[in-house]
Amino acid sequence: MKTLIIATNNPGKAREFAEMFKDYEITVKTLADFTDIPEITENGITFEENATKKATVVVKATGLPVIADDSGLMVDALHGDPGVFSARYAGDHNDAANNAKLLANLGGVPEAQRTATFHTTLVALKPNGQKLVVNGELKGRILIAPRGDNGFGYDPLFWSDKFQCSLAQLTDAQKNSISHRGAALRQLMPKFDEWWAN
Ligand code: IMP
Repeated sequence: MKTLIIATNNPGKAREFAEMFKDYEITVKTLADFTDIPEITENGITFEENATKKATVVVKATGLPVIADDSGLMVDALHGDPGVFSARYAGDHNDAANNAKLLANLGGVPEAQRTATFHTTLVALKPNGQKLVVNGELKGRILIAPRGDNGFGYDPLFWSDKFQCSLAQLTDAQKNSISHRGAALRQLMPKFDEWWAN
């Protein structure tokens, strides 16, 4: 069986991807299955640049096909911030500090102007250089206080019009059905077979 690596250490993301490939004759591995992959610095200025960087490092280290993702939150009233800096807006992967900074920076901004978009770029890259890029987005609004305990990152502050609650009040399946990562994966799958075969 051929192996595909998902360039993540996040078990939640790994589950989402494994679900997409469950009917394929493919062994899905993640970075947690490898010990010798060099540190990856995500210092690009676009999601695609960061995802490509990640995919390239992992393909070089393993000689195997890889799917890498980069995501973030873009808030209209903050001119697209935190964007590619979403993970380290206030502190390195410190969700509470990031959320507090977001609320502080949006202080006094009325509900109608608190519109925001979650974005994901997925880059699929093979050792022969065959590359596939897809994107997914979710639009919503930033709340004035956190709601819910599920999910991660900015989920407690992101209001879903469809479900009329925050993303942190959704089940995994509900979130996947509308999420930016889910949308990007749904863009990827119709193109996957051709990329995988060539
Ligand atoms: P990553 O590239 O998917 O690791 O995302 C970078 C950062 O964006 C995360 O550390 C979170 O702060 C934020 N983020 C990305 N996706 C989500 C999401 O689905 N919910 C909440 N925050 C997210």
